[in-house]
Amino acid sequence: MSTSEDPGKEAQDQGQHSRPTARASPLSEVFGPVVTGPYPLSPADPSRLGARTPVHSRDRCEGSGECVRVCPTEAITVEGRGEEVTFQLDYGRCIFCRRCVDVCPTGALTASPQFELATLQRDDLRLMHSRKREVAPSPPPSQLWEETRQRVSRLFGGSLAVREVDAGSCNGCEVEVSALTWPAYDSERLGIHFVASPRHADALLVTGPVTANMRLALEKTYRATPAPKFVLAVGACGISGGPFRGSPEILGGVGSVVPVQVFVPGCPPRPEALLYGFWLALGKLEQKLHRKGLEVPAGASRGGRPSSGETPKSGPEHGSTDAP
Ligand code: SF4
Ligand code: SF4
Repeated sequence: MSTSEDPGKEAQDQGQHSRPTARASPLSEVFGPVVTGPYPLSPADPSRLGARTPVHSRDRCEGSGECVRVCPTEAITVEGRGEEVTFQLDYGRCIFCRRCVDVCPTGALTASPQFELATLQRDDLRLMHSRKREVAPSPPPSQLWEETRQRVSRLFGGSLAVREVDAGSCNGCEVEVSALTWPAYDSERLGIHFVASPRHADALLVTGPVTANMRLALEKTYRATPAPKFVLAVGACGISGGPFRGSPEILGGVGSVVPVQVFVPGCPPRPEALLYGFWLALGKLEQKLHRKGLEVPAGASRGGRPSSGETPKSGPEHGSTDAP
């Protein structure tokens, strides 16, 4: 999409970078650069991401604990000093404020543009560094674009319908979720689109710490969504309650109310991070089908997807959540 007759020249005149194109298009020859970002067809442009993710270097950490004192969400724990230090960072609580990075006296904490942080298990968001043990974050996906499109095609007839549920969010997450459908991210390239009714949905994307008032609405929405279905818990609030942890008015995360298949950290998570979460969720669903001996032919139509009697129900695998 272009907004002027020659937006590429206009950007150059203003000293701006031309935006990266998702793919070569003959239209760009005539109308200027395509605004749709490259991810997940190719790596995201780091200049558009910003560096907000705290990353810890085990070798530089002396265990001063300054990061623990400034962290507003108790996302960090440090035990021991010097050679015996054990550092733990919970991306499910982190709100990516960078305070810990700013105060770290040894430079052990740095800020990175890393955004592919989503996991299938709540525990995998707890990064632990000690002199004795190291748990690495999930590696970035390869072929994410093709795999997502193929999975949407095989599992959902080319169209993955998502119902978004705001379970008490501050609306920060909603801004990023709505950006997913804008030209810059264009989730419909992958067959992912949003619907108004849970009865038309294949997946739920839930934000917010789940306030007491929203509990029943979330439960009803989950029950109204036909199987197979999966749930993404989005943002620090959706995973752990985020900055609202400890309030008696919240339940402390989506996993305390309905089963969660994918946890997408952030405050809020970028649209690219949400796309990565969908890729993970689709892969998990496909693996479930394989384990049950159910093969879905490529390009299966929506009407041809397995009947509810054959499909794996979302199991009683509530993601662990942080009690307020
Ligand atoms: S960036 Fe995350 S871990 Fe660091 S102080 Fe902020 S909330 Fe805590
Ligand atoms: S995770 Fe952050 S942006 Fe999302 S609802 Fe909670 S406070 Fe708002």
